[in-house]
Amino acid sequence: MSKRFWCEMAWLGGAAVNSGVVLEVNGDRISALTSGVLSPPAGSRCLRGLTIPALANAHSHAFHRALRGRTHNAAGTFWTWRDLMYRTAASLDPDNYYRLARATFAEMALAGIGVVGEFHYLHHQPCGRPYANANAMGSAVVAAAQDAGIRLTLLDTLYLHGGIDPRTTDARTRTTDGYLPLSPDQARFSDGDVESWAGRVEELVSAVSSSTVRVGAAVHSVRAVEPTSIATVAAWTRRHDAPLHVHASEQPAENQQCIALHGASPVEVILEAAGATENLTLVHATHASDHDVALLAEAGAGCCLCPTTERDLADGVGPAATLAGAGVGLCVGSDSHAVVDILEEARAVELDQRTSTLKRGVFGVDTLATMATSAGYRALGWEDGGTLAPGSLADFATVSLDSVRLAGTDPDHPLAAVIYAATSADVTHLVVAGRTVVVDRTHTRVDVEAELSAAVTAVAAS
Ligand SMILES: [Zn+2]
Repeated sequence: MSKRFWCEMAWLGGAAVNSGVVLEVNGDRISALTSGVLSPPAGSRCLRGLTIPALANAHSHAFHRALRGRTHNAAGTFWTWRDLMYRTAASLDPDNYYRLARATFAEMALAGIGVVGEFHYLHHQPCGRPYANANAMGSAVVAAAQDAGIRLTLLDTLYLHGGIDPRTTDARTRTTDGYLPLSPDQARFSDGDVESWAGRVEELVSAVSSSTVRVGAAVHSVRAVEPTSIATVAAWTRRHDAPLHVHASEQPAENQQCIALHGASPVEVILEAAGATENLTLVHATHASDHDVALLAEAGAGCCLCPTTERDLADGVGPAATLAGAGVGLCVGSDSHAVVDILEEARAVELDQRTSTLKRGVFGVDTLATMATSAGYRALGWEDGGTLAPGSLADFATVSLDSVRLAGTDPDHPLAAVIYAATSADVTHLVVAGRTVVVDRTHTRVDVEAELSAAVTAVAAS
């Protein structure tokens, strides 16, 4: 059955915004689009404000939502924060993980996010033994996204080692292959070897039948996976036409250890091992060198920036302008969910460049909006999502222009107002796969505040 939506204004790409746009939706696709319809046609749903393609959250660890407000005031480094994060991970089982992920994904829906890339490495029991269903945790994530009403790319993550052996320290902990053994906290992340990972993921692929869920792959990092296994995962993604994501160069120490072991940077090691890489997205690339950037551009790889997490963890500011200038496609993610606000991530890409380069206007608002929408959809394997056009996935969000943040918006530049002044609280409606998920700032199926409170409290207390 077809549905009709009338958008007071809609962003169809480029710098301009169209008025009076009618979107016809058939099944999970936009079947027709008409501009210049100045009042809502009979039988249409009226969307006041600016309608944009649904936002794409290209990098998420759903369980980090339980850390919000509990770790951000702490001193220390990325590595001391990681110890706190591991303690939360240890308390999760398939049931409480499902509830936490469903509430977190529902929070994303309220923020206008239509697709999430979940970088998933909580595979097994805390001791490292598989659950009776070896994909119990992954299946919990799949069910959570379906019940929250958003699209999911489950990036099933290979994690084998406890880190790169610093070599300069205690010889008693040094291993001959250059990697440290897994710590007890990391035991549940590992399948033991890449063949076991591939066997388990094949079972997950067979078990997933939803049209709004895709299974992709991830390599945790060069700290956790050696080049031979990176190559095996990359070959698996090519056989399955699936996206491949890898954390890379988030911290200077990671670069130093990787160079000490391999004589090459994380980007060089990943590109050398992965081969053809147009399906590859590197996450962070904060400390990528100019040479790394040139290699990424040549390989056709993309990067996912997570500025609110990168500033929270004192990672640094990545070379966004250099990457984009070289032709590397950029998308964004909320990663640790210090905030869930893709508009904030997109404007932070520009504002962090202003801070570090002393120049304004590095990226146009349409470029930032593209990072927040179609670029993220593409990085997650949904090539026909993130745009408002006939034939595209019927995923779109509406941002009100009436709040205290946006009242008085220049009618000629609503996209700039949304990118630079709106927050996730200004999203009023969300449609995913033709189904309405959020109406008037309210999720149609999930009591988001109550479920978040219960799910976070349960994990924090255990
Ligand atoms: Zn991450």
